[in-house]
Amino acid sequence: MGSSQRQHHNDANCVWVHGPIIVGAGPSGLATSACLTQQGVPSLVLEKTDCLASLWRHRTYDRLKLHLPRQFCELPLLGFPPNFPKYPTRHQFVSYLESYASRFSIQPRFNQAVRRAEYDRGLGFWRVQTQDSEYISRWLVVATGENAEPVMPDIPGMNMFDGPVVHTSSYKSGFEFKNQRVLVVGCGNSGMEVSLDLCRHNAIPHMVIRNTVHVLPREMFGFSTFGLAMTLLKWFPLKLVDKFMLLVASFILGNTDQISLRRPKTGPIELKNVTGKTPVLDVGALPLIKSGKIKVVEGVKEITRNGAKFVGGKEKEFDSIILATGYKSNVSTWLKGCESFSKDGMPKTPFPNGWKAEEGLYTVGFTRRGLLGTASDAVKVANDIAQQWRSINNGYNSHVIQLKET
Ligand SMILES: Cc1cc2nc3c(=O)[nH]c(=O)nc-3n(C[C@H](O)[C@H](O)[C@H](O)COP(=O)(O)OP(=O)(O)OC[C@H]3O[C@@H](n4cnc5c(N)ncnc54)[C@H](O)[C@@H]3O)c2cc1C
Repeated sequence: MGSSQRQHHNDANCVWVHGPIIVGAGPSGLATSACLTQQGVPSLVLEKTDCLASLWRHRTYDRLKLHLPRQFCELPLLGFPPNFPKYPTRHQFVSYLESYASRFSIQPRFNQAVRRAEYDRGLGFWRVQTQDSEYISRWLVVATGENAEPVMPDIPGMNMFDGPVVHTSSYKSGFEFKNQRVLVVGCGNSGMEVSLDLCRHNAIPHMVIRNTVHVLPREMFGFSTFGLAMTLLKWFPLKLVDKFMLLVASFILGNTDQISLRRPKTGPIELKNVTGKTPVLDVGALPLIKSGKIKVVEGVKEITRNGAKFVGGKEKEFDSIILATGYKSNVSTWLKGCESFSKDGMPKTPFPNGWKAEEGLYTVGFTRRGLLGTASDAVKVANDIAQQWRSINNGYNSHVIQLKET
């Protein structure tokens, strides 16, 4: 960082952190802090909102349960309580994360939105700026998530629409859309589940399917599809497992091409590995598509004052629009001067080696493998930092020392 910028912060509260700084108090930040604590390494978690697990608390819908069975969603060192169901609800997941934080005495600093972080080569440390402080540490762990910001599609005419336009991050329940004709843009897990929820509240969802999509049953022969795939991959090549998955899926679900859900040419697991695109695990939307309760519509050409025009020329009226268009990382907006992240805020090095970057920089939770990826990253990052910690630590007791720059 140049001297002019340093001068700019002369009056700011400067905080020396005697352990890693972790940005984000979601599952990834908490898991990393817990693993570090277990190794005797203190850390400081900075969180922009006023609570931990803000995604799960504030940006998810009421009916959401974990998509994957509990054993694939546990964080390191502490499992779910035994009374939790196979697919915990979001409330249960939040309560688990709260217990997790208290078990490992993790006390994030809330309302600390990291605006800029940069490695100071002269000093050999990271400078991390929030609205009211500058934090300095040898190590920086990026744990702000792949889902930091909603993706808003650029559809012509969107600002002309008279009714509400809501991203799924703000959607809570179909109750608010009772008896409405709703255009749902996007057909991933969220688009399907929101359409299902709308149906349960007597709304009429029209789900836009622009691209190909893999829909798989959530379970096969009483086993979770995900778990089954993981097990088979230990013994069989990926392409063979994909073929098996598709065969069983067509046996259980029928030919989804016939209801306008065309499958990609690449198999579901290969596609996930290559592009990060998650297959939809059906939790009940498919029968409603088959029965016509969830209507499938083609790509939107333009939004009008009271509805939408589709690429095939048809036009329909809608009362509301829900954007199930996903999320993106925000890392490129605040992490500066760093080669290891791409423009879209994801590590350039692919899984399983993306967790470690240059100059004491680490990432947790950017594997496109959900909480399983988070757990794996957190353990590796903590081990790596703990090794360095042991070799350089000369016995400080307090991990945060307040320094005032003059
Ligand atoms: C609807 C939905 C359902 C999902 N279901 C599953 C599932 O069943 N199983 C599974 O494995 N995965 C699931 N996922 C993926 C899920 O997002 C992750 O597994 C998990 O939440 C990732 O945790 P994280 O800590 O990496 O990110 P997040 O949970 O997004 O946490 C990141 C934290 O960083 C904070 N932050 C962001 N920017 C800054 C900044 N500049 N400064 C300070 N703090 C910042 C945020 O406020 C947030 O608290 C789901 C995702 C969604 C959206």
